Amino acid sequence: MEQNLNIGIVGAGIQGISNALYLQKKGFKVTIFDRDVPGSTSASYGNAGHFSPYASVPLNRPDVLADIPAMLLSSSGPLALKWNYVPKMIPWFVKFILNSTRKKMLHTAKSMHQILDLAIPAYDELFSEIDLSDLIENKGILYIWNDKDLKSRELEINIRKELGVEQQIVTPKEIHDLEPNIKPFYHGGVFYSYARHTKNPKKILLKLFELFLKKGGKFSKTNIKNISFNEEKPVLQTETQSFLFDKIVIACGAFSKKLTDNLDEKIPLDTERGYHVHFKGCDHLLSRPVIFSNRGFGVTPMEQGLRVVGTVEFGGLTKTLSKSRIKNLINNAKYMFGDLPEHEDEWLGFRPSLPDFLPVMGPSKNYKNVFYCFGHHHLGWTLGAISGKIISGMIANENTNLDLEPYSSLRFS
Ligand SMILES: Cc1cc2nc3c(=O)[nH]c(=O)nc-3n(C[C@H](O)[C@H](O)[C@H](O)COP(=O)(O)OP(=O)(O)OC[C@H]3O[C@@H](n4cnc5c(N)ncnc54)[C@H](O)[C@@H]3O)c2cc1C
Repeated sequence: MEQNLNIGIVGAGIQGISNALYLQKKGFKVTIFDRDVPGSTSASYGNAGHFSPYASVPLNRPDVLADIPAMLLSSSGPLALKWNYVPKMIPWFVKFILNSTRKKMLHTAKSMHQILDLAIPAYDELFSEIDLSDLIENKGILYIWNDKDLKSRELEINIRKELGVEQQIVTPKEIHDLEPNIKPFYHGGVFYSYARHTKNPKKILLKLFELFLKKGGKFSKTNIKNISFNEEKPVLQTETQSFLFDKIVIACGAFSKKLTDNLDEKIPLDTERGYHVHFKGCDHLLSRPVIFSNRGFGVTPMEQGLRVVGTVEFGGLTKTLSKSRIKNLINNAKYMFGDLPEHEDEWLGFRPSLPDFLPVMGPSKNYKNVFYCFGHHHLGWTLGAISGKIISGMIANENTNLDLEPYSSLRFS
């Protein structure tokens, strides 16, 4: 292994920082580039904070496809479109439809399960080096619903069972015992007792970033505009400067496509926009994250208060926050808890999503010294450490003992 190699990483979200730490473990010299201060506004800052190793059943499913029209028509539902973005997204939607067969869904579920199963142990390797007191809770994650006849629930539960995912079906009484402050509208739920959550994703990100710097990592706050090559070595280009590396990792989340397009790849990355608001001083209302599944949102008790998170909005990376989506979250939260104080902190974030709901992890099709690590959609927080471990293994030419083909960018060639 060539330990003295210089590696450049574009992106200081959870993917970029986890990649950096695992590469440092193997002795590489690492520099991270991000146009923002780490943890400022990215998806890795504003997410729901779930570590969800059970969540292998993807959204590309025949039943979800059938439910989309009803979801779009419901103002309390989980899905929305920025209609003037729809023409741009048609190729993505077509690929999503083609990936929503039962066979493709099972392929995604198995390939997600493979990495999700390793997600928590991979984090534990990183977390053993930082003080996380009071930031991680091991109280499980609870899903509830009020549509008892929904067929898709059965499908999800059965696939998880087939994959060996531990899950506990809970009755309304058991839900009440776990979370007595939720109004009793629910018909049933599932509890994943071994799942974790963080009370502040940003603080964890910053602690990991500090560890990276302490281990000799370098950081440059700058926007990477392009990638060029000096012989086979990649050069990261900003407006005014060029940085030569032995290898680079592109880990810009939903923004990665700009750079991969410049490398003549045809990776159909787009974004599922998601939102959060906080209800300050209300975190005592829950002991653990609760997801109201048929309305597509969740509530996590955090240091900032109750973080109400969710919705999927197709609308690209540049359009402004939709007030109607914020209202949707507030109304849903009030449905769940009754009266709540005025909300704070309206946030819009960008889930990086591929139409087959698998991430892209591995070398570029055209350039052997360029690696990709993005597209982790709803699960990028959970999958940070394991993705970093996998990419660092690839760069070090080690055998990971995993089937990595499902994550290759070659699947879009
Ligand atoms: C509402 C919502 C809730 C979520 N909840 C959960 C959850 O509970 N659990 C879970 O597992 N996942 C969750 N996710 C998903 C998860 O947050 C993301 O998948 C994950 O954070 C993506 O991490 P990333 O590092 O790939 O990207 P990001 O966090 O988006 O980081 C990318 C970084 O790249 C930088 N960048 C982009 N382009 C450039 C450039 N050209 N030059 C320099 N820097 C650049 C950006 O500034 C940014 O810092 C949620 C997402 C959303 C939106």
